[in-house]
Parts: sequence; structure tokens; C-alpha cells
Amino acid sequence: MAERMKNKVVIVTGGARGIGKGISHVFASEGAKVLIVVRSEDDAKKVIEEIKINGGEASYFLGDVSNQKDMDNMAKACIERYGKIDILCHNAGIFPEVRLENMTLKDWELVNNVNLKGTFLAVKACMPNMIENQYGKIVITSSITGNKTGNPGLAHYAATKGGVNGFIKTAAIELAKHNITVNGVEPGNIMTEGMGSQLGEEYIKAQEASIPMGKLGEPKDIAYAALFLASDEAKYITGQTIAIDGGQTLPESMFAVH
Ligand code: NAP
Repeated sequence: MAERMKNKVVIVTGGARGIGKGISHVFASEGAKVLIVVRSEDDAKKVIEEIKINGGEASYFLGDVSNQKDMDNMAKACIERYGKIDILCHNAGIFPEVRLENMTLKDWELVNNVNLKGTFLAVKACMPNMIENQYGKIVITSSITGNKTGNPGLAHYAATKGGVNGFIKTAAIELAKHNITVNGVEPGNIMTEGMGSQLGEEYIKAQEASIPMGKLGEPKDIAYAALFLASDEAKYITGQTIAIDGGQTLPESMFAVH
């Protein structure tokens, strides 16, 4: 086990599947104590077992990021178990595909509640302890969608991820005086459980064809960028987002890809 995160405590929302699972594993393998936050415990138990087998330390907290009480209790549980919150990797998010003509207010509100309101609530809950300690690293999983690209069926999602980037910039300014950095990772198309179930095979094939590197990314590709942004090597970086997308947002046309 490497030790770049020795003595650090990290909360990873949505940390039991997909990108979040990658983040949980990478931080644990670097010595961090990891609190995994999800709504259902089966996946979390599996990830924690894997982390423990590899010599790491992790536990889970059941909560919904769109629920204020759950987020406040999440922060409380982390402080009770591990004494502090050094790092928040706020990663939980949903991307159910529905085109505008069929999109209902309920669809819109669900995605906004989880992705955007959830970001606000998770950060608000962790801030007091970070301010008290005059130390904190917040890394939010944003997306290329809504910031560098658009995608049919994801107008609600794109709006939330654009909002997340706006939030990152202002939160970074407000928290800078407390030695807290706020940054984001913008995944391109990463092969995860959610990608398979929410967007499907046809979507995945179309995405692959538009990626200069010719394939989707892996959760750990995002996790290593989050690890860097949460490390002390990145102490002077704040308010930034990094696209990790195999070059997907570079080509001016499909001709440029092949
Ligand atoms: P995923 O495979 O569906 O996993 C999502 C995780 O978040 C699960 O552990 C899920 O667990 C948890 N979660 C969902 N809603 C939650 C809620 N309301 N409260 C607490 N936990 C919740 O998704 P993913 O593909 O890894 O995506 C993770 C993040 O990356 C999202 O923010 C997504 O927008 C972003 N992203 C993904 C891609 C991609 O290509 N995959 C691209 C760009 C951005 P439970 O269901 O048990 O709660």
C-alpha cells in the first residue's frame, strides 16, 4: 500500500459503484480512511470487504445526497468514526436519459435534486469541520456534458453539471481563506454500472466511435485525477476542473477522429 493519503479521512458519496468505487479503492490504497455514502448497502459491503482484504480501512453510511438531514448525519458519522473530514469526494449522481419532448417536471426535479442540490448539501454538511480544522479538499464529480458538450436526452443532467462547475468556482473563492480547495473532475464516457443500465449498448458504441483513444475510460482514470486534486501537491489549485475523456472533446469533426 502506498501512503499519499496516510492519516487522511475521505467521504466518497456514491462510492460503491462505478467511478465512486474507483475513487474509494484508490484513496484506500493510498492509506485514507474511507466513508462510503450510498442509499443501498449491498454494493457498499462488497467494496468495503475488497478494501479490507487489500489492507485498507473503510465503512459505509446509508444516506441520500438530496436529503439535508442525511447529509448532516453523514458528516456527523464521519467525525464520530474518524475524528474529522479532510476530503469530500462528492461523486453521487444520476443520468436517466429522456428527450425534452418527453421530459416531465418530475424528471427535471429528480436530476436537479440529486446532482445539484446534492452537491450543495454535501458541501454544506462537511464545511464546518473543514473550517474548524482550517484544512479541506473538496473534489466534485462534474462531467464534460453541460460544460464542454451537449447530449440528446440529457438536458436536465447537462444543466446540473454546468451548475456544478459554477458552484465550484464560487465555493473555491469563499473557502480559500480557510485553506480549503474546491475542484472538479469532468469524466468523459467511463464504463460504469450506471452507464450500462441508464444509457445502454447503442449509446456506448456511438461514444466509442467519437473518442480519439477509441475506447471508454475506466473508473480509476477519474480516481487518480481526484487523488491528485485531493493531495497536498495540489494545495495551490482551486476552482478548477479537469476533463478526463480520452480526447473526446478535442476533434472538430468525426473526420478528425479517424
Ligand atoms: P453509477 O455507476 O450509477 O454509480 C452511482 C453511485 O452513486 C452508486 O453508488 C449509487 O448508489 C450512488 N447514488 C446515486 N444516487 C444517489 C443518491 N441520491 N444519494 C446517494 N448515493 C447515490 O454512476 P457513475 O457512472 O459511476 O457516475 C458517478 C458520477 O460520475 C456521477 O456524478 C455522474 O454524473 C458522473 N459522470 C459519469 C460519467 C460516466 O461516463 N459514467 C460521465 C460523466 C460524469 P445507490 O444507488 O446505492 O445509492
